[in-house]
Parts: sequence; C-alpha cells; structure tokens
Amino acid sequence: MTTVSPDPVRVESELVAGTLRCPSCSGQLAPWGWARPRPVGRGSARRRVRPRRSICQQCRATHVLLPASMLARRGDWAAVIGRALELRAAGLGQRPIAAAVGVCRSTVRGWLSRFAVVAEEVRAHLTRWALWLDVGLVRLEPSGSAIGDAIAAVVVASGAAASRLGIGCRWQFASAATGGRLLCNTSSPFPGPWMG
Ligand SMILES: [Zn+2]
Repeated sequence: MTTVSPDPVRVESELVAGTLRCPSCSGQLAPWGWARPRPVGRGSARRRVRPRRSICQQCRATHVLLPASMLARRGDWAAVIGRALELRAAGLGQRPIAAAVGVCRSTVRGWLSRFAVVAEEVRAHLTRWALWLDVGLVRLEPSGSAIGDAIAAVVVASGAAASRLGIGCRWQFASAATGGRLLCNTSSPFPGPWMG
C-alpha cells in the first residue's frame, strides 16, 4: 500500500505518466485494477471510495493506492480523525471530542489509544519530514504531552509541505507522510521523506 493524491484524475494521469513510485523498490507503478470499494465518512460526508491498485514494473509487487484523505483500515476521513487528535491535545475528553467530530465515543477511544502508542514515533518521523522540507526550521519546543508533541510536529511539517509541496490539509499530509499508517498496528517503518 502507498498513499496518493485524493484526486483520482491526478492519480490516473500519474499512473499513465509513470511518475508514481513503488514503496518497496522505487520502480514505476502501472495501473492494475481496483481494490474493493469501501464507505468512508459519516452523514453528508459519507462517500464510497474504490482505491486504485497498481503493479510495480520492476519488482512486480502490487500496491493499493490509498488516497491521502484516508488512513489505512479506518472508515473515517483523515481530517476528522486528525481533528479528534487535536482536540485531545487541547485537553478535551472522549465524550466532547466524539460530539465535536460526530462519531461514537468508542471510535474516538480507539483512535486516541492507538495514537498514544505511536505518538513518539509520529513526532520523530514528522519532525524528520519538517527538517527535510525546511532546513531552516527551529527546534520544536516540548508541549508537555506526547500527543501534543506529535500534533505539533504534524502542524510544523504540514506547514513546510504547504509552502514547498502545495499540500494544504495537514492530516492529508500526515497520511501521505506515514504511508496511510498513522494509526496502524504495524512494525514496518513509516516511509522516509526521500521516498515522498
Ligand atoms: Zn517495486
């Protein structure tokens, strides 16, 4: 799996142009059907998404191209999940967060408990991204919590990405920068900036 633009037209043109790279060997990715459709989001924001599949021309591995508006194995938009994480860092509890983002409390609890486990890894990874995007970056000051520090790194890295790469939504950037695995149970490392 690898993350791509949320714009399917752009993904198609990148696949045809051969500019998408294999996350394993950096070979060119070519079109290879579609993954199974899945519903994402709730209420008026609910959409049916059918991610593109691709095959590497070099190592022949197939990869699902996950839009950066999503996170792997999550049925809500990255921006909604990210908003919940930001509210947690601001000191809100599960119940008000659930009300604010329109999901049930158990879903919020799942996001928060998973993010608490990976927060330090996310902070370190997004800080590397920030430094890679903006070599003039000053040191990030500790916020007093692991989640707060991780969010701060997302904010700074996505700010650098917005000016350099033109990626506006910070949680879409966080999804892209982690290969969609921001909230995954996985031992594989996040993709490095050099693979972006
Ligand atoms: Zn490959």
